[in-house]
Amino acid sequence: MIIFYLIIFIFGLAIGSFLNVVIFRLETGDKIINDRSKCLYCGHKLSWYDLVPVFSFLFLKGKCRYCRKKISFQYPIIEITTGLLFILVCCYFPFVSSIPLLIEWLFLFYMLSVLIVVLSYDLKHFIIPDKIIFPAVIIALIYNLIFANLQFLNTLAAALVGSLFLFSILLLTKGKGMGGGDVKLAFLMGLILGWPVLLFAMLISFILGSIYGIPLVIAGKKKMNSMVPFGPFLVMGTFIALFWGNEIINWYIQTFFV
Ligand SMILES: [Zn+2]
Repeated sequence: MIIFYLIIFIFGLAIGSFLNVVIFRLETGDKIINDRSKCLYCGHKLSWYDLVPVFSFLFLKGKCRYCRKKISFQYPIIEITTGLLFILVCCYFPFVSSIPLLIEWLFLFYMLSVLIVVLSYDLKHFIIPDKIIFPAVIIALIYNLIFANLQFLNTLAAALVGSLFLFSILLLTKGKGMGGGDVKLAFLMGLILGWPVLLFAMLISFILGSIYGIPLVIAGKKKMNSMVPFGPFLVMGTFIALFWGNEIINWYIQTFFV
C-alpha cells in the first residue's frame, strides 16, 4: 500500500512539474506544449536531470546550474502540493458508488491540477485565466452528465447558486471585492462539489480570506477594497471541502440537530 501511495505521489510530482510549465507558458503566452524548457535568466536549455521534480531543486540548492540565478520556490511547492493532493484523492475516494474508480480519480486529478494553476496564477497576476477554467467547466459538465447522472442537477444548481452569489458581491462592491474570474471559478466549484458541500467551501473561503485580510487592514497595509485576489481562498476552500466537507457537515448536523 505504501508503494502504491509512493507511486501516486511521484505521479503527482511529475504532473506538478507540468503545471509549473503550464503556469509559465500562460505568463509568456507561449503554446502549452512547446520545445524543451530553458532557464528563465540565461536561456540555457535544461537537461532531464535539471528537471527532476523537487530533487533537482534540492540538489542545485534552488539555483540554475549554468548561471546560478535563484529558481523560484514556486516550482517545488507546486510539485509537492500536487503530489500530496493526489494522495488525498486516493485516500478519500476509494469506495465510490456508481462511478468507476479510475475515472473518478482521473477527473479529480484533473480538477485539482486546474485549481492549483488557478491558485498560483491568481496569486501572482490577479487573473483567473479563461483558457484554464472554460475547458474544466465543460469537462465537469460532461463528467457529471455521464457518470454522476443523479448528481447532475445537484451540481448544476450548486454551480448556479455559487456563481450568482459571487456575482451579486461583484455588483455590490463594483468589482472591487470580487472579479469576474471568481464568478467563473465558483461555477466550477459547484460542478465539482455539488450541494451542500459548495456552501461549506464558500464559508471556508470567506473565513480564510478574513483571517488573511483583516489583520492587513488593521495594520493599515491594505485598504478595505484594495486588491487581494479571492481566487486562492476559493481554491483552498474547495480543497478542504472536497476531502473533509461531507464529514464536517454530517458532524455539524448530528451535533446540533439530532
Ligand atoms: Zn540560468
